[in-house]
Amino acid sequence: MTLTMQQHREEVGIKDGLLLVDGQWRQARRETTWSHQHPATGESIGEFAVAGSEDVDEAVRAARRAFDDGPWPHMRAGERARLLNGCAALLREHTDELRALQALDNSVPLSFGSIYAGSVAVAADAFDHHAGWIDKAGGQTFAPYQGGDHLAMTFREPIGVVGAVLPWNAPFLLFAQKVAPALAAGCTVVLKPSEYATFSVLRMVELLVEAGLPQGVINVVTGPGDPTGEALITHEQIDKVSFTGSREVGRRIVEASAGTMKRVSLELGGKSPAIVFPDADVGMAGMTAMGMVTMGLSGQACIAHTRALVHRDVYDEFVAAAEMIAGSVTYGDPFDPGVQACPLINERQLNRVLGYVEKAHEEGARLVTGGDKAGGDLGAGHFVTPTIFADVDNSMSIAQQEIFGPVLSVVPFDDEDSAIGMANDSEYGLGAGVYTADAQRAFRVARRVRSGTVGINGFQVEPHLPFGGFKQSGLGREGGQAAFESYTELKTVMMPLTDEMM
Ligand code: NAD
Repeated sequence: MTLTMQQHREEVGIKDGLLLVDGQWRQARRETTWSHQHPATGESIGEFAVAGSEDVDEAVRAARRAFDDGPWPHMRAGERARLLNGCAALLREHTDELRALQALDNSVPLSFGSIYAGSVAVAADAFDHHAGWIDKAGGQTFAPYQGGDHLAMTFREPIGVVGAVLPWNAPFLLFAQKVAPALAAGCTVVLKPSEYATFSVLRMVELLVEAGLPQGVINVVTGPGDPTGEALITHEQIDKVSFTGSREVGRRIVEASAGTMKRVSLELGGKSPAIVFPDADVGMAGMTAMGMVTMGLSGQACIAHTRALVHRDVYDEFVAAAEMIAGSVTYGDPFDPGVQACPLINERQLNRVLGYVEKAHEEGARLVTGGDKAGGDLGAGHFVTPTIFADVDNSMSIAQQEIFGPVLSVVPFDDEDSAIGMANDSEYGLGAGVYTADAQRAFRVARRVRSGTVGINGFQVEPHLPFGGFKQSGLGREGGQAAFESYTELKTVMMPLTDEMM
């Protein structure tokens, strides 16, 4: 039977998406809307407002007023922390509803919405975690450098109005990893969700409002990059743009920030290596790498270890383990508890992934499995079968470019130095995995790989850990103290203690 979302759509009760501007939910001034097509079926799921430059301007000005004149930046630490803990509690209470909305947005299966990194729990934990930083936003005091008697000290102050731009693939985690530290620091926010995952984000924002955030502290403008995103990132009253998404849009954000010297943090793409040594649990390494590339997001995860560098002695064993996972992954109806993986988000992405498959054939890689669009009952969706290419050279397109699909490229190596050389031969530096039973080698390699996050024999995403990229994978870090501080400015205050110093 052909897959349909009709019944789930009715059960969840999708309503038209509105903008949140200065505490009011409303349509866009020009009444433009976007009809969201479900990636697994092509059905229209719902409509939401497309914010034009005038809507974005009103939202930014509301956030500005809430920052410049409102209580939020000056609120007592305990009170602000209680509000953020309240947001966390409401998110947890609405877990099932949010997971269902996500399945209607981006077709990420309910099963993956229960795995910690993709769950509502991780978003709620991020709010609790960042609430804990509020009363620890301290500075330093300094001894006089040139002698004499004077005081010098630093304070951390909120950066101001934050424009937060989200991708579609992990709306719970990425919403919380931006909004929670920004609010904790005392900033106000104008949020733009992805046009491919709007409904779950709108519901999370409703819950934050219900938790009691003051008017104008959070505003939402929905719509695509043009016009909504552009209007936000170029607005002169935005102090910081916090972005997660593709490197191309990241570059545009850096350019657009120059005019008013906006602070920028960027979480971009990756081509992360998994380096597998002969003494590793090779079966586990193969299953983990292929699991990351297929389960849940079908490889549409920035952090997926999509480039396996495998010692020649265990190469065949690794490929066999990866192939076993490829054959076992289930995809289809995201509401089916047995379904583990999602389709590609849109036709553009489908064509892009199939284009890389073609290029891999041309460049001489060996297809082990997959590489097709799924047909039959799933034919209306953008499903691609789990794909493995072996005998890949690290210079090939499929080893260098972020494919953002269920494609694992397996590259052989002969010794540790050449593995590290290939791992670092990439424009990206987001994540890496090292698989070995030798602890010294594990840390030696982890330290030499130029990536923001390295997992030794496993990988986790947690809200208190700094996460971000070296090289073209981004600027700055999300998670933990580093994220909280990135929403603050450091101010130095000094004062002579005697008249001679004046
Ligand atoms: P994308 O760059 O196409 O879109 C991201 C967001 O930017 C969307 O909200 C989009 O509407 C908006 N946008 C597009 N053009 C814009 C413009 N000119 N001005 C302002 N906003 C604009 O990315 P995507 O397809 O949603 O997500 C996939 C990408 O995100 C991949 O490259 C992936 O690696 C990356 N990603 C990175 C992380 C991380 O933490 N490093 C996490 C998830 C995804």
